Amino acid sequence: MNSQDPRTLQLAERLDAVKARIAAAQSTSTRSRTGQPDSGTPTLIVVTKFHPAADVLRLQSLGVADVGENRDQEAASKALEVAAAGAAPLRWHFIGQLQKNKAKSVAAYAHSVQSIDRASLVTALGNAMARELGTTGRAPLECFIQVDLSGAYADLAETAGLADAAAQAASGPSSRGGAAPSSIMELADQIASAPGLSLAGLMAVAPLGFEPEAAFELLATASARLVAAHPNATAISAGMSHDLEAAMAAGATHLRVGSDILGPRPVVL
Ligand SMILES: *Cc1c(COP(=O)(O)O)cnc(C)c1O
Repeated sequence: MNSQDPRTLQLAERLDAVKARIAAAQSTSTRSRTGQPDSGTPTLIVVTKFHPAADVLRLQSLGVADVGENRDQEAASKALEVAAAGAAPLRWHFIGQLQKNKAKSVAAYAHSVQSIDRASLVTALGNAMARELGTTGRAPLECFIQVDLSGAYADLAETAGLADAAAQAASGPSSRGGAAPSSIMELADQIASAPGLSLAGLMAVAPLGFEPEAAFELLATASARLVAAHPNATAISAGMSHDLEAAMAAGATHLRVGSDILGPRPVVL
């Protein structure tokens, strides 16, 4: 990709701006101020959904190694297009709602699935990966359990006797998908025991209408509990364009940034 192409220049500029925010957040994070162990620079996943494969190739020429997609059909065709261009391998992270019947397709190109929310999906991904491993010898699929933090708010608010907040959290439009916190352990055990799947950690989207700081602290608490049972499952995928600083303050190891790098997503009809 020609580095003087205006779109490439624009992406380079926005990518640099996001990297500067990450560096600034790292130097001011509570963890580094208090000398707590820091998990290092988080992995930046550039979310390319709704943008063409040409943009993925531009990002790749700018050194991006991780991209995120939320629809299988779109991701599969972009992965093919990018692979055909013969550039260095990219890691594709699947971050959207996933139907079981798409597991086989996703297993063919994805490095990780970050949106695991139910046992039947784990079974489907395990079966798909068993086939993949037999034929391609690829690395295990990294699995993140997506946590529904709006549900966590409901639980917490209920425990604290905040009936209004509990009702709002449980019924509001705040759910952004994911498994109830109470089902994390069961899903984790299932993933850990499936050949071909490797348990990476947790993922979440901050619920609408709540402070991202508080949401990501809840996620960090859930992560600590998970790590106590599965010591290698330390990944925390949190933080998008508008809340990556809050996610980093809570220990995010993976950030998923779309619009601040690629611009507004094209309207789909
Ligand atoms: C689209 C999307 C992102 C990126 O969001 P931006 O606000 O564009 O940075 C991150 N995570 C998930 C799950 C998404 O669907």
